[in-house]
Formats: sequence, structure tokens, C-alpha cells
Amino acid sequence: MPGPAPAPEALAVYRRKRDFSRTAEPTGGSAPEAPGEPTFVVQIHDASTMHFDFRLEVDGVLKSWAVPKGPSDDPHDKRLAVPTEDHPMEYADFEGVIAEGEYGAGTVIVWDEGTYRSTAADHHGRQIPFDEALEHGHASFRLNGRKLQGGYALTRIRQDGDREAWLLVKRDDARTSHHGTPNPSRARSVHTGRTLKQVAAQAGEGGRGGR
Ligand code: MN
Repeated sequence: MPGPAPAPEALAVYRRKRDFSRTAEPTGGSAPEAPGEPTFVVQIHDASTMHFDFRLEVDGVLKSWAVPKGPSDDPHDKRLAVPTEDHPMEYADFEGVIAEGEYGAGTVIVWDEGTYRSTAADHHGRQIPFDEALEHGHASFRLNGRKLQGGYALTRIRQDGDREAWLLVKRDDARTSHHGTPNPSRARSVHTGRTLKQVAAQAGEGGRGGR
């Protein structure tokens, strides 16, 4: 169940980092409240360092983590996930090139998308609200994506002021496999089938951003 619209200040950090006259990224605040289960999206971002951006809809925004190696479907892989600022819901559809000199400059593709269901519980196994689980530093959920499926957990392993490190790990369940993560340079957009390179080339031809 998607929560209420985000608090007005929820996207302040996101907006402060960007010059919307120079980037085609969404300003946020115009996404209608969607019924049904909350959204997740995984983008691949060829920025100064290549990484995956893992985002879960919570309370009307996309809670976000940068995952350098990307999510893995192998429960043995513990993937570092570093929190980044909350992103607007509209960001789930963003695919294109962020102009040089701008925050996050580089190419973005939507690698996977779908919905998730919270399986968050306290250490007695009692269900707890997902936002509360994140606050406590351990949230589990089931992904129903086009590529990613099954149980995952995000666990905070380090907190040092504003700097946090989390791990994103596949749960050992029926949806387990051992493919790991595809090579980001060869991976294709779930929206358009394009690689990062193709998106970058087409943006060069026809202007930046867009789908
Ligand atoms: Mn990123």
C-alpha cells in the first residue's frame, strides 16, 4: 500500500543537488498516488564510477541506495549499498544522460522495475511497518520484478554521523539462483532494450534525457 504524498521537505536534498534548467531529471511532486503494492526500480548509472541505484517506494518517495556491484540473486553475495538522497517517484522512469558538470553526470538506464512486498519483522518475528524497519536498520522484502524475484534484505552495518553503509543480500528461497549480476556495460534497459552505450549515443544525436 503506497503511503501518503511525501512531506514537502522530503525532496529538499534531491532538489538542492540539481539544476533543473540543465538536467532532464524530474523535479518531482507530480506523480499521482498509484494503487496496489509499492514500486521498486533498479537503475544502472554510468557516472564517475559505474554503479546500480536500488530504489524502494516508501511514504511517497523512492528510498535510494547506490550499489557499486549491483544486486545479486546469489545469497552468498553481500553487496555494499550506500544510502543516497530520497528521489521523487517520477525518477523510476528516468532514462537518459545527465549533462556533464551536473550532479551525477553520466548515463542512466532502467535495468529492472516491479513491485515489492514488505516482510519486515522484529527479532521476535512480529510484522513491523517497513519505514520503521528501515529506521531500525534491517528491512526484508520480496521483489516482484521483471528480473529480480524473491526475498531480499537490507541491513545497516555501519553508521557514522550521516555516513551509512548497508548490505543488500538475497534471501535463500525458491527464487535463489547463482547468476550474480550481469555486466552493467552489456545489461539492457527493461523499458527500451537499450544498453548504456546506446542511450548515450542516441542522446548525443537527439538531445539529452527522455526515454
Ligand atoms: Mn546514481
